[in-house]
Amino acid sequence: MKKIGKRMTKQKKVILEILRGTKSHPTADWIYEQARKILPDISLGTVYRNLGVLKESGEILELNYGSTYSRYDGNPVNHYHFVCLKCGKVLDVDMPIHSELEREIKQEGIAKVLYHRLEFYGYCAECGGSL
Ligand code: ZN
Ligand code: MN
Repeated sequence: MKKIGKRMTKQKKVILEILRGTKSHPTADWIYEQARKILPDISLGTVYRNLGVLKESGEILELNYGSTYSRYDGNPVNHYHFVCLKCGKVLDVDMPIHSELEREIKQEGIAKVLYHRLEFYGYCAECGGSL
């Protein structure tokens, strides 16, 4: 891993490892439960603070779904997601990023587009099997 100026705290390292080790796009609560198995004294507040730091430094993604809890992604490279409306599962979508969308958007009031996010919504194979 690339060395950054500040030394990575134990808590931050554990949280990052938990996120890198799952494809489930977990909530902060789930990450907290996992982190406690390794660091019994860690608090939920510490988990939230470190998630914020990791997000600011571009090491993880926060997937914000408005009314529901944010989910976190250990893969910081932009990619698309599918959200199951029944079970709430968030899956990675295996398709290329359409960066042309960022060139095509021409509108007054926008100086520069840095990235875009795209989510598909529907039913996963388990929930929509009989549709
Ligand atoms: Zn589902
Ligand atoms: Mn993802």
